[in-house]
Amino acid sequence: MDWETMKKQQPTVFQMLERSFEKNRLAHAYIFEGTRGAGKKETAILLAQRMFCSKHHRTVPCGSCKDCTRIRHGNHPDVLLVEPDGKSIKKGQVEQLQKEFGYKGMESSTKVYIVNDSDKMTASAANSLLKFLEEPEGETLAILLTENIHFLLETVISRSQVLTFAPPSYERKAKLLVSEGVGESVAPLLARLPDHLLERYNEDKEWIVQGRSLVIQLTEEALNRPHQMLLTLQDKWLAHFKDREELDAGLDLLLFWYRDLLTVRHEETGLAFPEQRDQLKAEAFQRTELEVTSQLQAVLEAKRQLQANVNPQLLMERLLLRLQEGL
Ligand SMILES: [Zn+2]
Repeated sequence: MDWETMKKQQPTVFQMLERSFEKNRLAHAYIFEGTRGAGKKETAILLAQRMFCSKHHRTVPCGSCKDCTRIRHGNHPDVLLVEPDGKSIKKGQVEQLQKEFGYKGMESSTKVYIVNDSDKMTASAANSLLKFLEEPEGETLAILLTENIHFLLETVISRSQVLTFAPPSYERKAKLLVSEGVGESVAPLLARLPDHLLERYNEDKEWIVQGRSLVIQLTEEALNRPHQMLLTLQDKWLAHFKDREELDAGLDLLLFWYRDLLTVRHEETGLAFPEQRDQLKAEAFQRTELEVTSQLQAVLEAKRQLQANVNPQLLMERLLLRLQEGL
């Protein structure tokens, strides 16, 4: 990931950093806070590269010199990354870091350390780090990354400049999932699920894959073979989305389909069902925008009824009727 690409995703953060570089007023410690996949670690690495790169252009590191390459590969002697050892970051790890930075004249006086998941520091590790923040040696830059800033010591926060990262876009989240081994067809759907559901179904992707097929089948039937829908509902849908929580996730998948139907009218990217682009376009051509909006509202209404304990089968039967009529 290069500077310009990350800047497009996190413009506020990068404008801040660029301004600090231009005014030569970089903080000694930064806290990068934001959700998973927001690009905190990539940004920390870019910042470290910028500190050492001899061929940088203004604030942008070249990305290919010896320093940039070593930092990217994690083997630059003056850039250290600390990660949780098991469930926590222990005092010994922070002490080890201080010891390594204690050696003088390694390559330069500038040193950068990045602490990933810094909220996982034990109390003694955090206190040890605090001393380090209070008495930085030379040009030391600390970058603490966290998804839960409220778990950090108040004293650590007050000594750092906090930069808040915007949540990642669906595309970015999907790419991250693909890099973790999720199939390309299902990643855009998983990326759109709320975090608690993503965590639950990330372990059981086959369930989402099958749910995805059911949505494709049901929406196709709503358009071309409405008499089939009740059968599919009985035989497949209710057997797959068994309890309320599962049915709610099923309705989410359905919702993504109708959102795609609105999107595909204007653009072809950013779809939750990218592999069904042709089917979506064909369907979008047969429905008016008003009809699709009303279908979208029908699904949202079903989600509300589900929360209000309406019988799932009854709720789904009503919904299917509205979906096929497009009213
Ligand atoms: Zn460079």
